[in-house]
Amino acid sequence: MTEIRSAQQIWKAALGELQIQVNAPNYRTWLANTAGLSYQDGQFAVAVPNTFVAEYLEKNQRSLIERVLTGLTRHEVRVQFRIDSYQQYPARSIREKNIPAQQASFPLLNPKYTFSSFVTGSSNQLAHAAALGVAQNPGHSYNPLFIYGGAGLGKTHLLQAIGNMSVANNMNVLYVSAEKYTNDLMQAIRENKTEAFRNKYRSVDMLLVDDVQFFSGKKQTGENFFHTFNELHDANRQIAITCDRPPRSIALLPERLRSRLEWGLVTDVQAPDFETRLAILQARAKQEPIDISEDVLELIALQIQQNIRALEGSLNRVVAYARLVRTMLTPALAAQVLKDIADNETKAAPVTPALIMEAVVSSFQLTPADLKGRKRDAETALARQVTMYLIRQETECSLAEIGRELGGRSPATVSYAYQKISSDINNIPSLRRKIFEIQQGLHVVSPAD
Ligand code: ADP
Ligand code: MG
Repeated sequence: MTEIRSAQQIWKAALGELQIQVNAPNYRTWLANTAGLSYQDGQFAVAVPNTFVAEYLEKNQRSLIERVLTGLTRHEVRVQFRIDSYQQYPARSIREKNIPAQQASFPLLNPKYTFSSFVTGSSNQLAHAAALGVAQNPGHSYNPLFIYGGAGLGKTHLLQAIGNMSVANNMNVLYVSAEKYTNDLMQAIRENKTEAFRNKYRSVDMLLVDDVQFFSGKKQTGENFFHTFNELHDANRQIAITCDRPPRSIALLPERLRSRLEWGLVTDVQAPDFETRLAILQARAKQEPIDISEDVLELIALQIQQNIRALEGSLNRVVAYARLVRTMLTPALAAQVLKDIADNETKAAPVTPALIMEAVVSSFQLTPADLKGRKRDAETALARQVTMYLIRQETECSLAEIGRELGGRSPATVSYAYQKISSDINNIPSLRRKIFEIQQGLHVVSPAD
């Protein structure tokens, strides 16, 4: 029993660190749905949802994962991936079983993202007050509410807090990322189901759209969203939006949509000051609960400054380490653990679109000009789609940026290629092998290791 608990704890800490080390799409695709199963005699078993994930992690992330685990346990660790479908996606809400069938396909709110779990300070006070105002008086305070700011500063947390409170007030809430909205729309158009799309998005009491910077450069989606916006707004339905920048800085957005986004209240979240970072750590320690001294929390709050997600990852890591070695968690020990994270972070070389293209053309024996050009034979077309798929998987590039990298293809083309390869990879073993090999090449550990 103790052994199982500690495997779970170790893995939780490892995920905290991996989340800092791999990019967000990669983390979501390959690591978010995993769990620690057992740890014995240097063998660490990780539960993964399917063969596909197992093979990917095995080929591409094994050495990184073993390094993280070894760092955490201070023992040489060999990792093993085991397929275990009991794992649930963590963000899935417990409400799931009780919601009406018609809503079942809506992305669900994370029950942890509430107003009471949100710590306020000068960096986010206005955004918090505005969000709370909207949740308490939807459709009648600020409409839309527009929250912007950098990554990991609590935008999604606030947006979902509005959603959670409104669901509790029996409102029909739809939370969606701008990316999902775009994909839904493209799919509806392809399948001639735009009427159903309209019904889905225009029949709600409240629409929460996360990360609207994604609409940039997507003309059709921008226009469509403009109409969704108007219809909801005219009916006094509440709209709340987050973005990584203010409306006026979103490039390539229809002008009339941009001006709508500024109609209500535009507010930002900034990087938290030391007091707020400390308060967040204290709240987290209390919530878990973790027995941790004030000086250690202060040390973490001093060292990790930019991003609340990183702050939480660091806390998890420090705590897990102390539990493992069963020593007193002193500031000096915490400093050592955090230093290891910082060292590892600088080693991870970023994968760029150019590197991916290079790897694909060498695997398919083509030239970069072929990828960017108009050749349409089956092999070139496949190589192009694989490139799009890999850039999407491995980098933070938007569909539009990927299209530009590949000689000016439309975002819809990129989105289609991504979905096609994502599904082919499950059905065509030879393609899967080929893509794995390319990916492996991208993740070769540098000699500095
Ligand atoms: P963003 O959407 O801005 O990238 P998130 O909302 O996903 O950031 O926040 C990242 C993590 O930090 C989440 O786990 C969130 O709960 C936590 N977090 C962010 N801001 C706060 C806060 N003010 N108080 C407590 N937790 C916070
Ligand atoms: Mg977010």
